[in-house]
Amino acid sequence: MKIYNTLTRKKEEFVPIREGEASIYVCGPTVYNFFHIGNARPFVVFDTLRKYLEYRGYKVKFVQNFTDVDDKIINRAREEGIKAPEVSSKYIKEYFLDAAALNVRKADVHPQVSTHMNEIIEFVKTLIDKGVAYERDGDVYFSARKFPEYGKLSRQNIDDLESGARIAIGEIKEDPLDFALWKARKSEDEIGWESPWGIGRPGWHIECSAMSKKHLGDTIDIHAGGQDLQFPHHENEIAQSECCNGVPFAHYWMHNGYITIDNEKMSKSKGNFFTVRDILKEYSGEVIRFFLLSGHYRNPINFSDTLMEQARASLGRMENCKEQLEFLEKEGKDGAMTAAEAEAVEGFDRYRQEFIKAMDDDLNTADGISAVFQLVTAINTAVNSETTKEFAAKAMETLMELADVLGLLQQKSEDALDEEVMKLVEERQEARKAKNFARADEIRDILKDKGITLKDTPQGVQIIKE
Ligand SMILES: [Zn+2]
Repeated sequence: MKIYNTLTRKKEEFVPIREGEASIYVCGPTVYNFFHIGNARPFVVFDTLRKYLEYRGYKVKFVQNFTDVDDKIINRAREEGIKAPEVSSKYIKEYFLDAAALNVRKADVHPQVSTHMNEIIEFVKTLIDKGVAYERDGDVYFSARKFPEYGKLSRQNIDDLESGARIAIGEIKEDPLDFALWKARKSEDEIGWESPWGIGRPGWHIECSAMSKKHLGDTIDIHAGGQDLQFPHHENEIAQSECCNGVPFAHYWMHNGYITIDNEKMSKSKGNFFTVRDILKEYSGEVIRFFLLSGHYRNPINFSDTLMEQARASLGRMENCKEQLEFLEKEGKDGAMTAAEAEAVEGFDRYRQEFIKAMDDDLNTADGISAVFQLVTAINTAVNSETTKEFAAKAMETLMELADVLGLLQQKSEDALDEEVMKLVEERQEARKAKNFARADEIRDILKDKGITLKDTPQGVQIIKE
């Protein structure tokens, strides 16, 4: 598999540290609110990366953190008159609900800042001992200039960065480029932990360095996140980790592109801010997932009703194929596949290979989805009134093999043909066989009222939903 590595700005062959294994760290959400469609993109994209690497036989260890100590959480707690941990535990629960709706699997570890305070403090101590960090009145800062490669991920010159950097009010750092590893508590009611520098809490960047080290080791295969995290977050993670551990932090850096809403930047003030929880009222989680995977992960993607409707219709074609096969697995002909069917099944491998080729090319889910649609077309063409159960089962196996990697067709479709409809279709077939055309026509009318049209073709009955 080739992966576009932000660090080298090149597509590179994925060569893991340990053969057959892959360690992945993804920067997770700050848990002070429901996550929005922009946050959802890395969750879905890198969940698909994980599923694909597993499909290719890798044993993947996948870590995604929760930032549960942060100003935003503290502010939200003040607004609501509750304690900060109540805010974070509430939104961690909500995260899992929405992630499940998107078919995003739980990570192997979801570390939280609040439960990794010892590791974080140890990490900061090491940086001070190594002379790359210093303490000032209970704050601890990292000296960016002590890391000669500072700026290597975002390809920025340290002097250019210097001229753009500012020291914020309340910060007592030596150099505007330095960043906080530990922040002294400002007031008694603020959440804080005991440390060698007094009561305080960690800066944002240090958590990922400390938690990645603890759960995945000093050097990992892939570190991933949204494009907006490249600088300063990931740049600072690299500086901290490489100074502390003396080895490269991550071999591959993957970043997903932005999401715009109706071609505008998403922002609360513009009123075009959509949480996944809100979108789920209109569209199923699988439609949202399909939409997020329909473009290449590095390209920007635009969220609009028109595109979501297109996603719904496209996913519907896949769902119809699956439902048709489910029906034929039960109601198809008994006995062995015909020669034509066996040939068709053999032909399916072409689409599997197309799919793998696309996904191997820097996780090109857009082309991967196209390969699945080619398979769907091939299946639809092969299916007729003589279709055997065996053929239906083989076709289903291939369809689900690919759909599972994309995390699609896992849920019952919202407008799936329900049992009642399928029973009516069957009854109509029976009636026609028994030449009871009055009953057959009656059933056709009942189905028509449900928005379902039956078309008798030489290949058998086609079920068309409105
Ligand atoms: Zn991070």
